[in-house]
Amino acid sequence: MNSKNTLDTYDVVVVGAGAAGVGVAIALQSAGIENFVVLERHHVGASFNAWPAETRFITPSFPTNSFGMLDLNSVAIGTSPGFMMEIEHPTGEEFARHLGIVARYFEVPVREQIDVTRVTREEGAYRLQTSIGDINTKHVIWAAGEFQYPQRLGFPGSELCRHTATIPRYEDLEGDDFIIIGGYESGVDAAYHLAYHDKRVRVFDSTCPWENTSSDPSIALSPFSLERMREDWFFELVELYPNTPITSVTVTGNRYTVTAWDGAVFYTDVPPLWAGGFEGSHMLVANLFELRDDGFPLLNANDESTLTPGLFLCGPSVRHDQHVFCFIYKFRQRFAVVAKAIASSLGLDAIGLETYRAWGMYLDDLSCCGEECVC
Ligand SMILES: Cc1cc2nc3c(=O)[nH]c(=O)nc-3n(C[C@H](O)[C@H](O)[C@H](O)COP(=O)(O)OP(=O)(O)OC[C@H]3O[C@@H](n4cnc5c(N)ncnc54)[C@H](O)[C@@H]3O)c2cc1C
Repeated sequence: MNSKNTLDTYDVVVVGAGAAGVGVAIALQSAGIENFVVLERHHVGASFNAWPAETRFITPSFPTNSFGMLDLNSVAIGTSPGFMMEIEHPTGEEFARHLGIVARYFEVPVREQIDVTRVTREEGAYRLQTSIGDINTKHVIWAAGEFQYPQRLGFPGSELCRHTATIPRYEDLEGDDFIIIGGYESGVDAAYHLAYHDKRVRVFDSTCPWENTSSDPSIALSPFSLERMREDWFFELVELYPNTPITSVTVTGNRYTVTAWDGAVFYTDVPPLWAGGFEGSHMLVANLFELRDDGFPLLNANDESTLTPGLFLCGPSVRHDQHVFCFIYKFRQRFAVVAKAIASSLGLDAIGLETYRAWGMYLDDLSCCGEECVC
């Protein structure tokens, strides 16, 4: 372990050892890049370990690799959480364990317990301020994820609510009458587990995410969640309030008042749960990117900053036009694209990445995704 203020110099530093960081690191290896490191503030898979205990993957794992198709939740060719764990919908803890094993198997050079606090660009290279001192690198892959950066702001009083990303276990929540603000995957997940424990739940959303309006699970609820909502007990305890934006939450004593846009008022004695999504870690490096109208970083065709060459984004915050890469099976398609771009800039031919193309894990033509199902 380096002492404080030691200056290392790498060809590439990957920030974050989650699904994106571990996956893209393995792609760097395949591209023949050796002088790189993955810096991780906690441990491999830390965000998954912090999911509420009951929360499971909505994307199913199935060991299809022998047929030339990767398990939907694999981060690397030849791996399959479904095969390894014999579990179709792993919990966060189970997936974190899988990720740790993958990182060790591929000998990914992860340095844990190193927090990256700032990235600056100086004389064509990058300097990372970290909890153990500064580190220099020619390229940075920002893969610090979203989960540890929950959305805090939403409406007056949102700070009185409890973000679903801070809940260790739904079963342990005290109270019988819950209000959930936000009805997409995390909101439905919370409602399902609370109702399972016989709690009354009201779920509010500014739109109607429970209607199946798109075949893209980044926009519409997954079949896993829709199936859960068809449990015969679900609607005995859960009430849905579509098209009902919440405009404020206040508290007097132990009583929370939740007010909707039309003036309707709802009460609960339990802090409302806020399933409002994530700000995302890219806010830490927002000054190094041009931003799109939706606030996400603007990227070139290699997922590189259009402002500061050599800085790449990997993971669920990647956006191209209307395409949202917020699932593993989506953002892993970009690992080889990023690795290839970095290898090229280092003068390597990256021939090993051709395997990624063969496995359909190399999406360099962005026009081919985003098609709607027709039936
Ligand atoms: C409840 C829930 C359910 C989900 N279900 C699915 C699903 O079924 N299928 C699916 O494909 N996706 C699912 N997702 C989305 C998926 O989990 C995320 O897209 C995925 O975790 C993103 O991986 P990541 O590596 O980008 O981020 P993370 O897993 O968050 O990894 C980022 C890593 O970076 C580290 N880090 C953060 N900041 C720093 C820093 N400043 N310095 C150093 N290290 C840092 C963190 O400790 C963490 O280990 C779900 C997400 C949630 C919240």
